Amino acid sequence: MKVVVIGAGLGGLSAAAQLVARGHEVTIVERDAIPGGRAGMVESNGFRLDNGPTVMTMPNLLEDVFNAVGTEMRDYVTIKKVDPMYRAVYADGSELNVVHGRQEMAEEISRFSNKIEAASFLKFCTWLEKLYKAEMGSFIDTNFNSPLDLVKPWRAGLQLVKMGGFTKLDKKIGSFFKDERLQRIFSFQSMYAGLAPYEALSIYAVITYMDSVEGVYFPEGGMHSMASGLANALTDKGVTIRYNAPVTRILRSSGTNGAVTGVEVGGNERIAADAVVCNPDLPVAYRTLLGGVEAPRVARRGKYSPSCVLWIAGVKGLPPANAAHHNIHFGHDWNGSFKALIEDGVRMPDPSVLVTLHSLDTKGLAPEGDSSLYVLEPTPNLDGKIDWSRERDRIVGDIKNRVASLGYPTDVVVERVYDPLDWEAMGMERGTPFALAHTFFQTGPFRPNNVDKKVPGLVFVGSSTLPGVGVPMVLVSGKLAAERVDEYAKSRR
Ligand SMILES: Cc1cc2nc3c(=O)[nH]c(=O)nc-3n(C[C@H](O)[C@H](O)[C@H](O)COP(=O)(O)OP(=O)(O)OC[C@H]3O[C@@H](n4cnc5c(N)ncnc54)[C@H](O)[C@@H]3O)c2cc1C
Repeated sequence: MKVVVIGAGLGGLSAAAQLVARGHEVTIVERDAIPGGRAGMVESNGFRLDNGPTVMTMPNLLEDVFNAVGTEMRDYVTIKKVDPMYRAVYADGSELNVVHGRQEMAEEISRFSNKIEAASFLKFCTWLEKLYKAEMGSFIDTNFNSPLDLVKPWRAGLQLVKMGGFTKLDKKIGSFFKDERLQRIFSFQSMYAGLAPYEALSIYAVITYMDSVEGVYFPEGGMHSMASGLANALTDKGVTIRYNAPVTRILRSSGTNGAVTGVEVGGNERIAADAVVCNPDLPVAYRTLLGGVEAPRVARRGKYSPSCVLWIAGVKGLPPANAAHHNIHFGHDWNGSFKALIEDGVRMPDPSVLVTLHSLDTKGLAPEGDSSLYVLEPTPNLDGKIDWSRERDRIVGDIKNRVASLGYPTDVVVERVYDPLDWEAMGMERGTPFALAHTFFQTGPFRPNNVDKKVPGLVFVGSSTLPGVGVPMVLVSGKLAAERVDEYAKSRR
């Protein structure tokens, strides 16, 4: 079939690759001048600054996408380990390095805390691995047609129940570790799913598996290289990618009804297609491209993940000697911080902040002797109580002062700031780049589905549909979308 993919985000690129693998004729239509979407890149004054995802996990999933089109990842992007994966700095001044290798990490925990906690870490890894295996095939890498599909893989479901997958994450992590600092470093990942450790179910510890056990990686040339590499591989395989081409409407056989027939670009040009794969944020796509079709209730009324302020900068000078690629500076408070962020909709009183130094161990991202800074503070999304048009400068000023006081160089050559209003202007619902939170009832069969009976031939891909948020998940979503296109093709025969 002839398929148009709207958007060259990682989800759209993955879908395109999986569609090519299935023999479809694919055109990608992207509004921006470069691929990647949220995994973007700012190039200026000799700096290459990533402005999206920073923690790369599960490179095998990216490799699968390259392999799907008969290419090798290593020919397009070089992925290397980030070790230590994180440097965790606690409010009491203690520091823990999260390192690759279970034994190596156990030794680090023994140094940092004690031998009992180190032994617990090894048991924790075994538990996480089992959890991942139970979830991946049956609940993550799968399409859902109804909530009943949740009980079909009953063996895996039963295993998750037995493993305590439906208890609260903080309690489960607490059953492995007594040291509160270790509880933090192995549970903060629930924030990637938009949830506090005290509200998330233990099944979301699968994210901790993906980073702390499977490891954190970094593509040479920056995170954006994942997207530019994929786009190059697709182009080499004959896929047309049209940039600077905003889709203004999804065309249907009879006005606002019937099967999709293609897309309208820039308000006048039409590209015909038998199926359309849609990568823009799902609620925004319903509002802006599907004139009149109502988005699923959960997308309209659901609970969206917290957002963030991101400050990226090219700065003069080098970071302190003990700095790592990813540095998490925890505030004093823990549950109170999540409550502020998620329940009260206000800034964390004592914010934890992520400082990533992409240029620390990768050449070519900053001029010799200079550094790239990537600083992210989680904040409420636009459902919260912060008036960003008034508060932005103060909050950004605070973040910069904090980063300087932590010893990082802050003599700025080039910089960009993104706050929730910026994310919203870039097409992200409620001003969050992290889509609907992964509460149980917004996950799997309860998340906005990648197909909608009302619009035959339209398939969604990306973080606002199945399976969910983050680079590994959106890469998987491409495969799920391609399966849906195949189902549609079959239904038309
Ligand atoms: C600051 C930040 C930090 C993050 N940190 C991490 C992390 O550390 N690890 C991790 O795994 N994930 C992280 N994420 C999340 C991850 O980046 C996203 O989940 C993922 O990149 C989303 O990909 P996507 O394909 O769903 O959407 P997008 O990347 O948003 O792709 C959508 C594409 O559609 C295009 N588009 C939109 N409208 C139109 C239109 N009308 N016509 C044509 N094209 C259109 C857009 O330009 C874009 O290219 C982070 C995200 C951000 C922003």
